[in-house]
Amino acid sequence: AALPGGAAGHRNKSAAFPDERERTLIAIKPDGVQRRLVGQIMQRFEQRGFKLVGLKMLQVSEDLLSQHYCELRTKPFYPSLLDYMSSGPVVVMVWEGHKVVQTSRTMVGHTNPAEAQAGTVRGDFSFHVSRNVVHASDSPEGAQREIQLWFQSKELLKWECCDQTITCE
Ligand code: ADP
Repeated sequence: AALPGGAAGHRNKSAAFPDERERTLIAIKPDGVQRRLVGQIMQRFEQRGFKLVGLKMLQVSEDLLSQHYCELRTKPFYPSLLDYMSSGPVVVMVWEGHKVVQTSRTMVGHTNPAEAQAGTVRGDFSFHVSRNVVHASDSPEGAQREIQLWFQSKELLKWECCDQTITCE
């Protein structure tokens, strides 16, 4: 039978995972970098099966932070949030895959570490909401906005996995 979206007999990979190109922004906040948690956090996304398409370390400007957290600007903790987020470098990355936004939120855990399940990043590595180690976009639309804010399009790379392209002669 013809597969959807392709000629008969042509295997259309995107039919199996229609949103395999979904992307999310994950940032390891200054406390995560300072506590040397970068490797462990990245490992969780790799072992879950997501694809890393963007990665950099930077000292974030106040301008970028105020755009990133614009929805929180009226909150009482907003000034201390900006101080926290500029207290040292962050590692920011873009991960790609099926339902990566929702899955990442589950992996990262509740905003307040006191309510975060053990096994989540926040549930395993933090105990206070003002030092919760990691950021994850909360919706596909939010992810798109944040990725455009933090990355130039040329910093996001397309690549294929060697075990999908190997040929035997
Ligand atoms: P999330 O990061 O889980 O999407 P929010 O968007 O609500 O959560 O908040 C953004 C960040 O602001 C949180 O990750 C946390 O660092 C900080 N924050 C949220 N609530 C508080 C609070 N009550 N006190 C201090 N910091 C907070």
